[in-house]
Amino acid sequence: AARHSVAGCKERVQVVVRCRPLSGKEIFAGHKSCIRLDTERHTVQVQNVAGRFSSEFSPKTFTFDKVYDESCTQKQIYRDVAHSIVHSVMCGYNGTVLAYGQTASGKTYTMEGCDHPSDLWGIIPNAFEHIFNHIRQSQSSDSFLVRISYLEIYNEEIRDLLSPDTKKKLELKESPETGVYVKKLTSLTVNSFADISHLLMVGKKNRAVGATAMNQDSSRSHSIFTVTIESSSIVSQENGKTHVRVGKLNLVDLAGSERLSKSGATGERFKEMTKINWSLSSLGNVISALVDGKSSHIPYRDSKLTRLLQDSLGGNTRTVMVANIGPADFNYEESISTLRYANRAK
Ligand code: ADP
Ligand code: MG
Repeated sequence: AARHSVAGCKERVQVVVRCRPLSGKEIFAGHKSCIRLDTERHTVQVQNVAGRFSSEFSPKTFTFDKVYDESCTQKQIYRDVAHSIVHSVMCGYNGTVLAYGQTASGKTYTMEGCDHPSDLWGIIPNAFEHIFNHIRQSQSSDSFLVRISYLEIYNEEIRDLLSPDTKKKLELKESPETGVYVKKLTSLTVNSFADISHLLMVGKKNRAVGATAMNQDSSRSHSIFTVTIESSSIVSQENGKTHVRVGKLNLVDLAGSERLSKSGATGERFKEMTKINWSLSSLGNVISALVDGKSSHIPYRDSKLTRLLQDSLGGNTRTVMVANIGPADFNYEESISTLRYANRAK
């Protein structure tokens, strides 16, 4: 769907669906796929689950900007959904890539992938290869500063994944000059691809340590890896005048979208999950208000996630959501709910 940016030109939130293959375990347990993708027509059909006859379980078809089946490679996803956003960030625009879906649907595979071989890299490592290749090939008069930060939002609390103090909660602040920012968040300059892989690993380790220490389930948190690229080029040789551009890229691995009813959670866990579902639905509300283009009020303030992403979702920015699904028939309802959510965002 089209939306109007602040600049008045039409923009889009691109929504694609990626379906992972059945896992060995699922095949072994005799599960069948209930998903049929048509990559030409860009549709996903969710089929009847055998033995269920109520109308709620009739086959449903959804259409997206693109759909990817299990034959889709990591490089293809990068090329199709992330490449042009990363390019525009290097030109000074903001951009966001979101991975949505229930736990074990392939969000982290899509965002991070595997270290070896490089064919299995996800969007984050591919983005860095892209960025550093671009810098290497640019004019010697251009200079670049690449900084990263890495945080997680758990239960509406923000934690710095690049700080050894994983228990410390950070505050969201707002200033007229910089907009919304996270106070005291670690921001590190990176000079090479190796720096990035290292920091990604440090962040993951901190995330796991923090989760264990606080008895949390890390699939219930959002992680946001932010890359800021500042580039300056000399626009006038005579007086050495430079032109500085700053672009920001948010690479977001969202919390598992599984619904409360299924989890059987009670007490603290239930409260936690209410907040997670709340923040995912507030993200859905923001995106659908942007896409709709008619709302004068975009409800960014409803959750930490949307406040944080505020300058990278609306206006002069580009956003893509990869909705991940698993094909197994026992995920029928969760897959339908993911597709409905994604359908609202486009
Ligand atoms: P999530 O982050 O949504 O919880 P993961 O990314 O951890 O899910 O994926 C769950 C499992 O499925 C992992 O073992 C992962 O390697 C595998 N997987 C996910 N997507 C794919 C894919 N497109 N091709 C092959 N394996 C995949
Ligand atoms: Mg994950």
